[in-house]
Amino acid sequence: MTTLTAFQDWLADCSTSIEEQAEHLTDLDRAIGDGDHGTNMARGFRRCAELAAEEDFTSIDAYLKKVGMTLVGTVGGASGPLYGTFFLRMAGPLSAAPDVDARALAQALRAGVDGIVARGRAEVGDKTMYDAFAPALEAFESALAAGSGTAECLAAAAGAGARGRDATEPLVARKGRASYLGERSAGHVDPGASSAVLLLEAAARTLG
Ligand code: ADP
Ligand code: MG
Ligand code: MG
Repeated sequence: MTTLTAFQDWLADCSTSIEEQAEHLTDLDRAIGDGDHGTNMARGFRRCAELAAEEDFTSIDAYLKKVGMTLVGTVGGASGPLYGTFFLRMAGPLSAAPDVDARALAQALRAGVDGIVARGRAEVGDKTMYDAFAPALEAFESALAAGSGTAECLAAAAGAGARGRDATEPLVARKGRASYLGERSAGHVDPGASSAVLLLEAAARTLG
């Protein structure tokens, strides 16, 4: 069972990992965007990591809602509202649950990823964060159907997300700022797909 404390550890781990990779994320965004993805994400997740010490959260869903609102308010750009929506929507299926099992976590992840699509209208192959999230969710659900527990489902999700991220390299972007480059966006890994994998890897370390 995954507790509120584990979710708070997840955001702390996200913040550390994004901070460590901020320069890399910014370099990726410099190649096909405006070079702010690492800075945007580090600012937002640092703020989220501070929440646990500032406020006594009593439920997972209240905490994830606050995380989502904080990301909307601090990350900015295209990715801020998308990651914000991911956490806000994740909270929905978890309302009032004191802890969650793999099945509930799958429902929350699906709601979060559906939220990204509802907001950004990306499809697989558009060279966005969804290219990491879509196969990650699929892998989580397959592992769950095969009887795996949370840790195994999350490890499968992180692995599939990483492969999805790597697969963005040859793609021509069809969404976001990178799409303005047309064919010149090919040959670079998508920054948002890369940050999505950092979130998934942090989840595999903390929520299992
Ligand atoms: P901005 O492009 O506004 O500077 P960021 O650099 O923070 O925003 O984020 C860029 C990332 O956002 C892209 O690499 C891509 O993964 C993601 N992104 C952009 N538009 C969309 C969309 N419509 N759907 C999903 N993800 C998107
Ligand atoms: Mg950018
Ligand atoms: Mg920007």
